[in-house]
Amino acid sequence: MNYFVDQSGYYGDFGGAYIPEMLYPNVEELRQNYLNIIQEESFKKEFHQLLKDYVGRPSPLYLAKRLSARYNANIFLKREDLNHTGAHKINNTIGQILLAERLGKKRIIAETGAGQHGVATATVCALRGLECVVYMGEIDIQRQAPNVARMKMLGATVVPATSGSKTLKDATNEAMRDWVNNPIDTHYIIGSVVGPHPYPDMVAIFQSIISQETKKQLLEQTGNDQPDYVLACVGGGSNAMGMFYHFIQDEKVKLIAVEAAGKGVNSGHSAATTALGKEGVLHGSRSILMQTEDGQVVEPFSVSAGLDYPGIGPQHAHLFKTGRGTYVSITDDESLQAGLLCTQLEGIIPAIESAHALAYLEKMKFNGQENVVVCLSGRGDKDMDTYMKYFGL
Ligand SMILES: *Cc1c(COP(=O)(O)O)cnc(C)c1O
Repeated sequence: MNYFVDQSGYYGDFGGAYIPEMLYPNVEELRQNYLNIIQEESFKKEFHQLLKDYVGRPSPLYLAKRLSARYNANIFLKREDLNHTGAHKINNTIGQILLAERLGKKRIIAETGAGQHGVATATVCALRGLECVVYMGEIDIQRQAPNVARMKMLGATVVPATSGSKTLKDATNEAMRDWVNNPIDTHYIIGSVVGPHPYPDMVAIFQSIISQETKKQLLEQTGNDQPDYVLACVGGGSNAMGMFYHFIQDEKVKLIAVEAAGKGVNSGHSAATTALGKEGVLHGSRSILMQTEDGQVVEPFSVSAGLDYPGIGPQHAHLFKTGRGTYVSITDDESLQAGLLCTQLEGIIPAIESAHALAYLEKMKFNGQENVVVCLSGRGDKDMDTYMKYFGL
């Protein structure tokens, strides 16, 4: 079984590039060049230097003793929360900005929902001195004021998307329109393993540093580079794909992807894509997405902004359909409780996204021997308002 992208941009039944004719030259330029550029020695050297000196990698693999005692297993946390800007997203934006430079691009565009990807993009644009335009739904701009301020302080222009529901989907449309109009000088940085081929593969490669480091660290700490389980939360799926990547072919390693059930899978307020979704096309690729009978995208819901997405990347759809990955979901309440537990047992306040992955440990049974790695995709500072309201702090 091949779990990686094939020559035509597919993962089994999923993937491809379903794009308007007008976008074809942009995507084709990227497709023809991305692998060659990523494999260049000078690219690798610069990428890894920045990951080390700017992002602060390798991120620790931390054996969480008190969580381990609670769950009767060796629970390791992969600390992406300790990266510069506080999450895994910077791994991808560093990779893409270096690629954009090598393609001769002078201008960067991105879309953002909660603002986390917008901040990671504005950060690398400041780092490299490139113009940055971030599209964001008008409603999201109101909801995510601190991230809007960060992007502006970093020198980015934040453009409100005022059509439709004024959220992520509309911002994506605006970004696509911009790219069609500026094909020569502009690169579009997508923030997860979604979008037309080659984005899902390219983003997965940049995020695969997570599992590459984990293997080495596990070998040092346990004498075995294969854990029994790896767990990660899934919005579009980039931290999960980074966490899974180098374990996908180790068939003994169980891959567990945790989606957001919101108020409950069947509550009508959920983002549990594999539980609720059907096959279809979203944001330029064939995958699984939440949609109505007549194919309209269903508005997702989760307390965590980063998981509030109606689809998953095509590689995840393939891992799900083939059974290589196990896809589960966790409610808002369960994730917030898990966030509190991790805080009080380990002194680590996780992002609510990451807390979804932690929460699934409550549903697993261990015999005291297993090694379990959980991707702590981000830190919880950005979520303090939500934690405060929920727990009355
Ligand atoms: C954006 C985000 C996610 C969700 O995105 P993926 O592409 O699914 O990884 C998860 N955790 C954090 C901390 C995020 O910022």
